[in-house]
Amino acid sequence: MSMSFLPIWIVDVVGSILMIVFSLLCIRLTLLLKRRDPENVVWTYLLWVCYGLTCFAVSRSAGHLLKQLLHMKGFEDIWLTVQPYSGAINTLMFVVVAAITLFFQRTWTIYQGIVRDQNALHKTHHELLYLNRNLEELVQERTQELTVSEKKYRRIFEASRDMILVTGTDGKILDLNPAGREMLKCCQRETDILNRYFASFFSDDTQWKRLLNEIESMGFVMSVEADLKRLDGAIMKSLISAGLSRGAIPGEDTIHFLVKDIEQRRLMEQQMAQADKLASIGELSSGIAHEINNPLGIILGYTQLLRRNESPNTERHNDLVTIEKHVRSCKTIVEDLLNFARSSPPKKEFTDLHAIIDDVIAFIHQHAGADHVEIIRDYSPDIPPALVDKEKIRQVLINLIMNARYAVGEQGNITLATGLDVQGDHIVLTVSDTGHGIDPDDISRIFDPFFTTKPTGEGTGLGLSVSYGIIKNHGGEIAVDSTPEKGTVFRVLLPVVSENHRISE
Ligand code: ADP
Repeated sequence: MSMSFLPIWIVDVVGSILMIVFSLLCIRLTLLLKRRDPENVVWTYLLWVCYGLTCFAVSRSAGHLLKQLLHMKGFEDIWLTVQPYSGAINTLMFVVVAAITLFFQRTWTIYQGIVRDQNALHKTHHELLYLNRNLEELVQERTQELTVSEKKYRRIFEASRDMILVTGTDGKILDLNPAGREMLKCCQRETDILNRYFASFFSDDTQWKRLLNEIESMGFVMSVEADLKRLDGAIMKSLISAGLSRGAIPGEDTIHFLVKDIEQRRLMEQQMAQADKLASIGELSSGIAHEINNPLGIILGYTQLLRRNESPNTERHNDLVTIEKHVRSCKTIVEDLLNFARSSPPKKEFTDLHAIIDDVIAFIHQHAGADHVEIIRDYSPDIPPALVDKEKIRQVLINLIMNARYAVGEQGNITLATGLDVQGDHIVLTVSDTGHGIDPDDISRIFDPFFTTKPTGEGTGLGLSVSYGIIKNHGGEIAVDSTPEKGTVFRVLLPVVSENHRISE
């Protein structure tokens, strides 16, 4: 009995000790695995199972060791008392191990879900990266296209000879191209346009309101004529087209204007009409003047003959003086007409303009007696000799100064000034007076042949039209500026021709 008991006892004790040692080794091994891969749920599961098994091994081995010890010491009855407790602890430990396994089965399912989600996230992350890279390339491509397009339209905006203007719907200027700045003579710096309204450049406020109403109701306007007022005060005829753009700037409607300066065209049309008028009247008048000139000369000759035979202060003598006076007046008109019609090319030579002016002033003092009117000379020493027909320029000056004398009346000044224009390619000759000025309604007609405001017998209305033709034949310009009750300024521009030009000719 003791022979067969001894090996079982040894087996039981050694087995119990080995069970504890193995389960501790298992813990150590799983701890190592877990440290290497802390996220791995399998190692976590194994570790907890090992903890459970170790507890079970410790409780079971402790029970068996105690049992052997009590048997050896002969306390079997104590063991009989302890045995159910030891068995219960063993069962409890085993339940713990089973619970861990059950618990981990659930954790495993969750873990697998997490892993699946993680993989899906990973995949999405990669897809996003790819899309992002694609998107970046796409954005770069689009930005490049936009830059090219922006540059192209900027160039049109910058290089356009017409004004391109962008405003808000209230007319506040948002953008204005260089041609527009030049046209309006304003906003030379970008910041100058801030807080400016297009309406302020309209000489007539109702024109702007009508334009804006039409744009708002129709969405656009085409080639509307309007008078724009530049910053230097000059009025410019313009042709305006515009369109309403909704949402070009987020949250803001804008109006895009295209403005053409038609002032030059209008002036040219006026000048052409004037030239046509002059040409046809010239033809007509030269025919009539030639026919009338000779009979008038004969009438004047006979009248003078008859008058000489009459004693002064008789009724017949006075009648003949009246006839002579009126025939002379007719002759003046006829001579003016002949001058007007004579379109012979000017005989130009290099002449000192100041000498011609002095000559004309002396002539007027002699023949017209200008004691009550002061004639002021304001000559510029810089003007070069002008290539002109002396006689014709004399005629122009006589016309202008006689008109000025008439306008000044009893008291006032006439100033004759010379100089060069800003570019230096024209001699500017101005005749200004402090006379009654020209009515604004008449100003557009004063160069028309036969337009006169003087009483019958005092004016023929040909002086300025003749002067206009002469200056045009010299390649020059004549313009007027007048303020009623203040005075009038006539500006004559004659081209500067260098003496070398004459030599090369
Ligand atoms: P005329 O002197 O025979 O009337 P002009 O052609 O020389 O003809 O002038 C036409 C008109 O222009 C004048 O009748 C006058 O009304 C106006 N005018 C010309 N010069 C002046 C001036 N310096 N001041 C005011 N009015 C002028």
